[in-house]
Amino acid sequence: MKRKQQQRLIDDIESEVRFTRGLIGKEALDERVMQAMHDVPREFFVPSHLKSMAQSNGPLPIGHNQTISQPYIVALMTDLLELRPDHSVLEIGTGSGYQTAVLSKLAAAVYSVERVPELGEAAKARLESLGVTNVKTRIGNGYEGWREFAPFDAIIVTAAATHIPSPLFEQLKPGGRMAIPVGLAGLHQELMLVEKDENGAQQTRSVLGVAFVPLLGENGKVQITETS
Ligand code: SAH
Repeated sequence: MKRKQQQRLIDDIESEVRFTRGLIGKEALDERVMQAMHDVPREFFVPSHLKSMAQSNGPLPIGHNQTISQPYIVALMTDLLELRPDHSVLEIGTGSGYQTAVLSKLAAAVYSVERVPELGEAAKARLESLGVTNVKTRIGNGYEGWREFAPFDAIIVTAAATHIPSPLFEQLKPGGRMAIPVGLAGLHQELMLVEKDENGAQQTRSVLGVAFVPLLGENGKVQITETS
């Protein structure tokens, strides 16, 4: 039964990818990304009363006004990063840990930062009980990245920022890729692919319109301006 539902979720993601091919510029996502989506049990990351909806291709509430992202978006953002097995990746917004688990299957090391302690700690425990060993988590303001382990081959931000945070761009390796929703919560947001070329210059491309919870500052408010 579970396997059947999991396959239906994969089919739903694939059909949404085909439906949006004009925007995302491809008919199908990387097979390794789809395999990782298949292998990570989403029901493990949603609150117990929502388990029956875990295989639906939509976001779900995880408490603290936060959500576990829609599986299609998780797959698409992961695909945009073009991860290789030797890559090190930084995630901002651990949330449930679901996206983190998907990343952990495709990269050598994942560093994930969450601002809400209860969410970050629960996600850490979940990942440990799934036997994931290549993830490090931290509670803090992800706007600042994680300098200790920088630079990263890839960065994924799973909350909407009003602009591309310069500390995150700085922590990207030349040739690195960042996927980040940019815009205001409740208003228009664009999923952006940010690339740092070999000379350190920034190239951005808008992929499609999305709806994420906001990236919040230390004070719990939306961070409008650069801090550094
Ligand atoms: N990737 C998550 C999505 C969680 S929603 C998942 O798959 O479940 C976005 C998360 O970003 C929330 O948990 C929210 O608390 C967190 N967040 C918001 N602002 C943040 C910040 N400045 N630093 C770190 N995490 C932040």
